[in-house]
Amino acid sequence: MSKDNVDLICDIGELAGLFERTQSLSDFLQKVVSIIAYHMKAAVCSVYLFDDETQEVVLRATQGLNPDFVGKTRLKLGEGIVGQALAEFRAIREAKGSQNPHFKLIQGLQEEQYNAFLAAPLVRGLTRVGVITVQDPVPNYFSENDEKALRAIAAQLASTIENAKLLMNLHSTTAYAGGKAPVVEGELKFVKGGVASGGLAYGRAAIMGHLDIHEFSQAKSAHSMADFERALAKTENQLEDLQRQLAERMADVASLIFNAHLLMLKDSEFSGMMMRRIKSGLTPAAAVIEVVNQYVNLFAASTNALLREKTQDVKDLGHRILHNLFEKDMGTADYEGHVVIARSLLPSDIVKLVVQRAAGLVLGGGGGITSHVAILARSLQLPMVVVRDPRILDVPENTMILMDGDQGNVMVNPAAEVVKKYDSLKEARHRAEELEADVQPATATRDGVRVRLLANINLLSDLKVAKRLKAEGVGLYRSELPFIVRNDFPSEEEQYRIYRTLVEEMAGKEVVFRTLDIGGDKMLSYFPNINEANPFLGLRAIRFSLRHKDIFTQQLRALLRAGAGSHIRIMFPLVASVDDFVQARSIVAECANSLRAEGIAFCADAELGVMIELPSAVEIADELAQEADFLCIGTNDLIQYILAVDRTNEQIADLYVPYHPAVLRSLKRIAAAAEKHSTDLSICGDMATDTRIIPFLLGIGIRVLSLDSMRIPRVQKRIAELNITECRKTASALVAMSRLSEIEAFLQKGR
Ligand code: PEP
Ligand code: MG
Repeated sequence: MSKDNVDLICDIGELAGLFERTQSLSDFLQKVVSIIAYHMKAAVCSVYLFDDETQEVVLRATQGLNPDFVGKTRLKLGEGIVGQALAEFRAIREAKGSQNPHFKLIQGLQEEQYNAFLAAPLVRGLTRVGVITVQDPVPNYFSENDEKALRAIAAQLASTIENAKLLMNLHSTTAYAGGKAPVVEGELKFVKGGVASGGLAYGRAAIMGHLDIHEFSQAKSAHSMADFERALAKTENQLEDLQRQLAERMADVASLIFNAHLLMLKDSEFSGMMMRRIKSGLTPAAAVIEVVNQYVNLFAASTNALLREKTQDVKDLGHRILHNLFEKDMGTADYEGHVVIARSLLPSDIVKLVVQRAAGLVLGGGGGITSHVAILARSLQLPMVVVRDPRILDVPENTMILMDGDQGNVMVNPAAEVVKKYDSLKEARHRAEELEADVQPATATRDGVRVRLLANINLLSDLKVAKRLKAEGVGLYRSELPFIVRNDFPSEEEQYRIYRTLVEEMAGKEVVFRTLDIGGDKMLSYFPNINEANPFLGLRAIRFSLRHKDIFTQQLRALLRAGAGSHIRIMFPLVASVDDFVQARSIVAECANSLRAEGIAFCADAELGVMIELPSAVEIADELAQEADFLCIGTNDLIQYILAVDRTNEQIADLYVPYHPAVLRSLKRIAAAAEKHSTDLSICGDMATDTRIIPFLLGIGIRVLSLDSMRIPRVQKRIAELNITECRKTASALVAMSRLSEIEAFLQKGR
């Protein structure tokens, strides 16, 4: 790769991604310097960060200079070439560094042997972040293009490094010098976790699963039976209120989410037991605590998974009653403004937290999450981080927590100055969103080839963003979400209302419904759980629907009715054979016949499609393309099944490689099959948002991408830079490659 092309490697997302994947912050900076040195073919690359307190630039990572000087080499603003570049906010390029009047030789740093010197400041607005330098023994080694490239890299890296810098400030020398993992021993101050849902949150910790009995049992309780009854009535009102709000804000998932609480509250056994204890002399608070604990133990020990899931509901209910009993001293009973910390959560808990206005969510202690917990959190814009360190669960209630869902950072009791910086970061990200303002109603390549960008919709509330960001339709509606969040199957009528809203909201634009995709890690708690050793290889998606024809029929009827007077598309997930598709299609025909016989209006020309998510489907793509009205590639699953890498297993996330030659060649085969039979083709997995791979996707002929709406502006911008002839060349080159390393290098070279 030519060093002139170095700017091409610096995709912001990729570097931010690197930050997420590294174990420690010094590790991150070290990787940055080695990547830059490699691509610029420079002997030295170093990063210096600006210390606001001392107003000095400090060497923080280097490749090529003496590593013992990391953390020790300090230059005043204006001192040396580095200090000068930052003081004047400008890049400095010298044929021989030593000839610059500001050059400062630092004994022991081992830079005597290097001549060419190029420094670019890292700045965010007018905030000084640091300096990146490259050096080389060959005089005049760096060209004007290199300078441009390094400036571009610096501009793109500044905010990520600013982030890293903030965190380093937190535990100053320890994280830097030793290059240790960012979890400090003993008291927990900072945890690096996995990104699950973006956004920043700052608030008091609320530990879910804690019934904070201590707080209440310590408080002086002089309550009467009348106080207790008032607290019960208030609790009931609050729950009914929450249920109402939920119905207004999230009609599709609202159904009876707080019903378990309400039922329990109204259950005379539950409140009766409390009353009997109060009558026999216990204080109301002690009575609530005792009975709640008794129920918690009972539920937790149940062999019925559904009842075990209710444990959290009882705890929440107990908490709420106690809050209402002590209302004057204890603040709100909700999670409002809190950063909630929990070991594990159900999808319905996410909805509950959102309606109670939680600020963010940290899942900790190794409790697994299903992909749908993260999908819901993202759809509902609840920032969420998943951390392994179990100590997060021991953080005392009400401790201040700052979390950054975009970077996966969680800070415990952050210093005021860190919080202030995050405020400005929040503002900066907000400004970045202004990119949205530029979004165009139609997307095209530089040479005018139209590409349609559709939205992936999980909840009806996602439609607002989809419309704002000018999605040209809905390319994937994940119909299982309402099923997963509820306590029972939604009826045909309930489903109809949800689907109809979607059709009406999109007002004639394309809408693709995916039929129920449960199984794998998306289980329905209310459906008898078949115990499967390998649920991802089990009764999932279309297999489940074909096996449970009653459930399938109900959904198909609701879908066909929702499409009345309009045009809809229905697609089946995880199709493994032409037979799967033909069988599903005949059930659609049966549903249409029965609706016709019943005189119910429905969409008679719904198009039926196949999701290509399995290697078996790739193999028979030709026949599927012939049989189906359209094909849609679900790369999230396709990658996991081709590579045999569980998409939810963090431990092997590095093996989940979208650009694996087997994946790229499969995509090419699918596209060729679709073209041969003139069958519509789209892609709806996360790969559609990978700006490195988009040229390949266009190059093999894909013209419809369905993605999270938030990604539309960026993907549109990327497509506008591309030329279709170039994309075709890129695709041919990529499918001919067999080594991952070769493909990686090619993609880094990029565009
Ligand atoms: C996919 O598998 O790519 C897909 C879009 O479906 P899901 O992520 O819902 O499994
Ligand atoms: Mg899938």
